Amino acid sequence: MNLAKHARYPLTFGPTPVQPLKRLSAHLGGKVELWAKRDDCNSGLAFGGNKIRKLEYLVPQALAEGCDTLVSIGGIQSNHTRQVAAVAAHLGMKCLLVQENWVNYSDAVYDRVGNIEMSRIMGAEVRLDAAGFDIGIRKSWEQALEEVRARGGKPFPIPAGASVHPLGGLGYVGFAEEVRAQEAELGFRFDYIVVCSVTGSTQAGMVVGFAADGRADRVIGIDGSAKPAQTRAQILEIARNTAQLVELGREITEADVVLDERFGGPEYGLPNEGTLEAIRLSARLEAMMTDPVYEGKSMHGMIEMVRDGEFPAGSRVLYAHLGGVPAINAYSFIFRNG
Ligand SMILES: *Cc1c(COP(=O)(O)O)cnc(C)c1O
Repeated sequence: MNLAKHARYPLTFGPTPVQPLKRLSAHLGGKVELWAKRDDCNSGLAFGGNKIRKLEYLVPQALAEGCDTLVSIGGIQSNHTRQVAAVAAHLGMKCLLVQENWVNYSDAVYDRVGNIEMSRIMGAEVRLDAAGFDIGIRKSWEQALEEVRARGGKPFPIPAGASVHPLGGLGYVGFAEEVRAQEAELGFRFDYIVVCSVTGSTQAGMVVGFAADGRADRVIGIDGSAKPAQTRAQILEIARNTAQLVELGREITEADVVLDERFGGPEYGLPNEGTLEAIRLSARLEAMMTDPVYEGKSMHGMIEMVRDGEFPAGSRVLYAHLGGVPAINAYSFIFRNG
């Protein structure tokens, strides 16, 4: 496998910490050892998160093409667009963001706080659009690109979640390489890696990265889209493309992509009872904050799988914490009593 042949522009602090979740593991019976890899703490750029790791491989192309405006799209409380705004500020570029109405939820200040607030403060031009949830390519986004060109600017298009960009899967191949180096120091290997999936390139990169040592299907994707067929297809497509880019040396197949559909409901961006219990449990036992859109759903999935005995006793499970906590500000009503 050859990831190093792809240019990477450093935006992160370096390898992210891996830590044991001792109180959560004990609370769940102590038969499975839970650990977390803290990609939520990966960068000083506006709280970081998984999109920063992906963007490290897109930025060299934006710079090489002489682009001056990063253009991207997401929901109103998108973590991704906040990270694009942060990278634009860091590079001295302009930023145009299309924020769609992806979530059927409206707290009093839903479109004022958290991610969108930070994007505005960082100087991004934020445009609200009424369209609903879809991880595909959108018209409003293409219009935004056209508009930047009409103004005489040079846009660099970054699709939702940086996922269907041809280089979008590379960052999380790097995650797998980082885990291998950390495992060598720890003296053991993780048996499973749990990750939240929506636009797909995080899991896709991991599938390719861990395929290199035979663990592709040990990456347990927890769907957060509540439209798992589309997410699964997108993971597979991105993983296949990424495998070629890094010369993995074998095809990625459907069997390599494990996506658990049980925890994503009721809709993208809306928590279920289990999501909320998981958020509170990991906060109260580990002071590890998670959010109702993404990491609360993957945390719920991991907790339920431990409770149901789905991981064999003695397993070591690595929870990939991808960020997303700024969005909890937009759910203040749900958490008004903790
Ligand atoms: C974007 C995001 C995800 C999902 O990653 P994809 O690559 O879109 O599948 C998970 N967690 C957080 C916090 C995110 O911002």
